[in-house]
Amino acid sequence: MNYDDYELLYNFYDSSDLNEFLEKLIADELLEGAVLGITRQCMAQGVDSLTMRQLEVFDRGIKKFITRYCQRCGRSDIPFSDMYIAYENKGLCDYCNYKMTYAD
Ligand SMILES: [Zn+2]
Repeated sequence: MNYDDYELLYNFYDSSDLNEFLEKLIADELLEGAVLGITRQCMAQGVDSLTMRQLEVFDRGIKKFITRYCQRCGRSDIPFSDMYIAYENKGLCDYCNYKMTYAD
């Protein structure tokens, strides 16, 4: 990972509602080992406390739980407060999940 990648990742995770999302991952025991340790540090001290290497491990570990784009509408600004719901909805934003669930 180079510094530009670090900046991009850092900016992506630098959010006031990131902890809310991370708490849910921990509560559901979806994280383990080094990723869990780094996640706890991130929650306690902020994403800016992570080294480039730690951020890389963190990103690799939690990436699969993150929805960058809604599978249905392509929305790319899903907030971390809705991110866990999007994961449970298999990559749908809140709006699309509602539409898919209650349509017809
Ligand atoms: Zn959507």
